[in-house]
Amino acid sequence: MKKISDIFNRRGYSLSFEVFPPKSSSSFDSVREATERIASLSPSFMSVTYGAGGGTSKYTLDIAKNIQEKYGVSTLAHLTCVSSTKETVRQRIADMKAAGIVNVMALRGDIPEGSIDSPREYKYAIELVRELREAGDFCIGGACYPEGHPESESLASDIIHLKEKVDAGLDFLTTQMFFDDGLFFDFVARASMAGIEPAYIFPGIMPITSVSQVDRVVKLSGCHLPKKFTDMIDKYGSDPESMRQAGINYAIEQTAILFQNGFKNVHIYSMNKPDVAAEIYNYMSGLLEYNGKKGLCKKL
Ligand code: FAD
Repeated sequence: MKKISDIFNRRGYSLSFEVFPPKSSSSFDSVREATERIASLSPSFMSVTYGAGGGTSKYTLDIAKNIQEKYGVSTLAHLTCVSSTKETVRQRIADMKAAGIVNVMALRGDIPEGSIDSPREYKYAIELVRELREAGDFCIGGACYPEGHPESESLASDIIHLKEKVDAGLDFLTTQMFFDDGLFFDFVARASMAGIEPAYIFPGIMPITSVSQVDRVVKLSGCHLPKKFTDMIDKYGSDPESMRQAGINYAIEQTAILFQNGFKNVHIYSMNKPDVAAEIYNYMSGLLEYNGKKGLCKKL
């Protein structure tokens, strides 16, 4: 399969989508079907997350492999290290190779709360980046946080550690979700000053389609909600269908602003929702065609 870094040689605009694996075998078929419907849009690539602790790692690979083999869409398999032993990580990397995965998102993972049993063989994602670099010819992505990682001492120290991670062998970065575009552009300016090339940053956009999602998302990411966003919730929050459409429109507007500002691939946190993914994909493709372009670039 193609490496995600090939995207930097393309001229046009594209979207990639994130999906998550099932938590148990009973939901495997429904998750696979949802991810296949998203794959049938032919996005530039699809990322498949890794369940905290790694208990569902097999499903990450099964879903990623299925998308690649059935739809020819390159996948980015996530891998975390903080809850694993070196031996387990080595095995996961071998499993990835065997499954034909060439793109890996190297993550630390969240530190499990109060777990004395945690192996503590890894401290930071940079250790996994180095290990993957040595283990094979992978295209490696890393996470970054426009508003700072929740544990970081300061925005400045977060960028210093990010640059170290990039220098250890990352091919690209994907951001945590954000709703305040200004904060994203501030981050890009700081990253650029530190020597991180903005073109290699994929902005991550989360379409919010229900009010209940807002609390969960903010708790998870700690990201700032600008007035424009909270006004949207106040206006449409009590009407589920209007809220869904308003949330999709908000994500579309963010994507258009990012394209306009030279970010050529936007990563959509599509959360196994094929209809939401299709609405954003079709709208953005139509918008590009309307502006005399060829529409979105298809799969790599
Ligand atoms: P790191 O890059 O190691 O950074 C973690 C913290 O340590 C930061 O505050 C950083 O500034 C600091 N740091 C780094 N190096 C040093 C150093 N040398 N000294 C002091 N401080 C240092 N989680 C999952 O479980 N599964 C997933 O699939 C998943 N996918 C994700 C995808 C994206 C795009 C993002 C943004 C996050 C994802 N996460 C996922 C969440 C991620 O695992 C957590 O945010 C985790 O807490 C940090 O992971 P990291 O790879 O960014 O860690």
